[in-house]
Amino acid sequence: MPFLALQKELDARNSQGLRRTRRVLQSPQGVHVTVDDEPFLSFCSNDYLGLAGDARLVTAMQRGAAAWGVGAGASHLVCGHTQAHHELESVLAGFVGKPAGLLFSTGYLANLGVVQALVGRDDAIFADRLNHASLNDAMQLSRAEIHRYRHNDVGQLAQLLEKATGRRKLVITDAVFSMDGDIALLPELLALCERYQAWLLVDDAHGLGVLGEEGAGSLSHFQLNSPRIIYMATLGKAAGVAGAFVAAEPVVIETLWNQARSYIYTTASPPALSATLLEAIPILRKEEWRRERLHTLTALLRRTMADLPWPWMPSVTPIQPLLVGSNQSAMAMSNGLRERGILVPAIRPPTVPQGTARLRISLSAAHDESDIHRLSEALHELAY
Ligand SMILES: *Cc1c(COP(=O)(O)O)cnc(C)c1O
Repeated sequence: MPFLALQKELDARNSQGLRRTRRVLQSPQGVHVTVDDEPFLSFCSNDYLGLAGDARLVTAMQRGAAAWGVGAGASHLVCGHTQAHHELESVLAGFVGKPAGLLFSTGYLANLGVVQALVGRDDAIFADRLNHASLNDAMQLSRAEIHRYRHNDVGQLAQLLEKATGRRKLVITDAVFSMDGDIALLPELLALCERYQAWLLVDDAHGLGVLGEEGAGSLSHFQLNSPRIIYMATLGKAAGVAGAFVAAEPVVIETLWNQARSYIYTTASPPALSATLLEAIPILRKEEWRRERLHTLTALLRRTMADLPWPWMPSVTPIQPLLVGSNQSAMAMSNGLRERGILVPAIRPPTVPQGTARLRISLSAAHDESDIHRLSEALHELAY
């Protein structure tokens, strides 16, 4: 048995309530899904606007495949960069108020590429402790000096920036924290970056489509428009499709396509995805009712479930985590909900800090009020 050591590690994970498993969906993503031939009401996905299964986008992807084939066939710099990718880059940059944009195949790759391209050995990175794993991995890969500050603690960040000696300084933060749902103090972060001549990388994976005017994201939410900000967002969450983009000053974007290894050494995403996103973005912008529905559902959730014995984390976004504490209780509650036909993921360390395991409930514009009442009844049964 050549892999006995690996089996032991998995067994240890299991006994700590940390074993990870996968569910096989037998239906498209949505609020009603089929797993093991059973129907479930799901509060799991990041499909906040309910666009992942939108019939208009299905048609757009079929047309995109008819026009462009199914694969890009090469990296962007060799000969995989099509008119569909190119147009989408300028649409996305314009949408978020930046002069230039660059598409990446995924958000994980975008974060790795941006951080590695912009800073290196002689530089310093300042990062919120609760940043997404992809930003954490990106900073390790960059080899820059790493300073992590307490979640949203701008005072501590100011002290760290004051003492810093790196050639370049890069502050990196989630705009909406993916496992907490709260929003970064972007105006304060930007003011500090201006004072200390640092760059600010904002990861808006959960803000684009959800926050700001027409869903333009966190910069619009705070009405921030500074060339110092390097903006990144993903296209597989509220936008319903796949991929990610960076939007920034043209000199930053050109630096990325020259230096970002996760951009250069990978095949361009299928152009049909870009064609689909060219349809998805106008829908995301115009259908304001989807964002209004999210607000209504969020308020209803917090109202109907205010009396549960666990605290709701302070969040105004569709990410609504219920702080359970221990890994075992979080798993037990997730399993209890599952027995009642409801899917809610239990999020455990190392994704979140020790002792803060939680149920991460995520809402979608495709939910309706009866779905929230059903969740409320099930959680009340489990509590009392
Ligand atoms: C999902 C997510 C990513 C990764 O994006 P993918 O396109 O799924 O690879 C990056 N940052 C944050 C904050 C995320 O939530």
